[in-house]
Amino acid sequence: MSKIPKRVLITGAAGFLGSHLCDRFIKEGYSVIGMDNFITGSFDNLAHLTDHPSFTFIEHDVCTHISIEGDLDYILHFASPASPIDYLKIPIQTLKVGSLGTHNCLGLALAKGATILIASTSEVYGDPLVHPQTEDYYGNVNSVGPRGVYDEAKRFQEAMTMAYHTFHKVPVRIARIFNTYGPRMRLNDGRVIPAFIGQALRGEDLTVFGDGSQTRSFCFIEDQIEGLFRLLLSEYSQPVNIGNPSEISIRDFADEIIKLTGTTQKVVYKDLPVDDPLQRRPDISVAKKILGWEPKVARHVGLKKTYDYFKKLSSEKLHKKEHKTFDAYIKTKKS
Ligand code: NAD
Ligand code: UDP
Repeated sequence: MSKIPKRVLITGAAGFLGSHLCDRFIKEGYSVIGMDNFITGSFDNLAHLTDHPSFTFIEHDVCTHISIEGDLDYILHFASPASPIDYLKIPIQTLKVGSLGTHNCLGLALAKGATILIASTSEVYGDPLVHPQTEDYYGNVNSVGPRGVYDEAKRFQEAMTMAYHTFHKVPVRIARIFNTYGPRMRLNDGRVIPAFIGQALRGEDLTVFGDGSQTRSFCFIEDQIEGLFRLLLSEYSQPVNIGNPSEISIRDFADEIIKLTGTTQKVVYKDLPVDDPLQRRPDISVAKKILGWEPKVARHVGLKKTYDYFKKLSSEKLHKKEHKTFDAYIKTKKS
């Protein structure tokens, strides 16, 4: 008798991380239900799965009651705007999906007896005063600043998840995801990697915010998915940082992109958005110990794959301006 595949619900399935998770779980023999309302995602990311027998898709806003027929073994809650430009543009939806959306997912996990993994973020550490960031650091978040809508939604999400674990005994996993990149990011979502590569491809100057001395640590999507997969299947219910500790300043990073793309454009400096964290690097000791995981893909390898993906996109996608200009984003700091 053939084994019945485990069923997994992935919210935010049409987004960058969600679509890669769908691929991974299908590859591992799971039956996958993808859910999304397309607010920042695109069905293009799932088009290759349309006719796959192990994949079904439900268009739904997770902030309203979620109803799934039949058994469910796992829920991965990834629905949420993730780019600072996105969450500045849709702040209320961002707060709602982190709070109401998470509550609905947790309620569903409780009803189905499912294990739930939530996509938390390095943003729970805010502009960190501890470096590198360890999971026991409580963070430095400005709740009423422009990023507060995302950071506080994610902090609430963690608190609610832990409450369901403590009071309802729901098996939970909390992934604190650090800046992750790769194919299927939206070229115009404003995050630094698609922003710089898009600018290089369009023959525009690269916009470095502030003096570029702020740092980030970029994790390639394949490594991130492996870490998330291992975390879900672990027994660990406390937060785990998943990211790549290789840290670089944004100024140096712009130079890497200039070298990679061969662009003859230069770097131009713009104001630093308010509350932009000045440093970020995960301490991944917990992930190493509990999951036996650490990233394997060097930045130059991941960036080349990402660049090749963006290069193949149509000229229409390359030139589509979803957010009026980068200046409009920076101006929010003055409002
Ligand atoms: P993304 O914008 O590509 O994907 C998010 C998806 O969620 C989109 O497809 C969007 O349409 C969907 N969505 C948003 N609100 C929804 C709602 N109410 N109902 C249903 N679907 C909804 O972003 P991403 O980079 O793939 O991020 C996915 C998750 O990972 C987010 O929760 C984000 O906070 C988290 N995360 C990502 C990163 C990163 O570097 N990519 C870092 C930290 C945390
Ligand atoms: N950034 C930049 N130019 C851009 C976009 C982003 O200098 O065109 C900077 C941004 O100010 C931040 C870093 O790059 O310091 C990473 O930004 P991103 O939006 O990718 O993610 P964050 O880590 O801030 O959420």
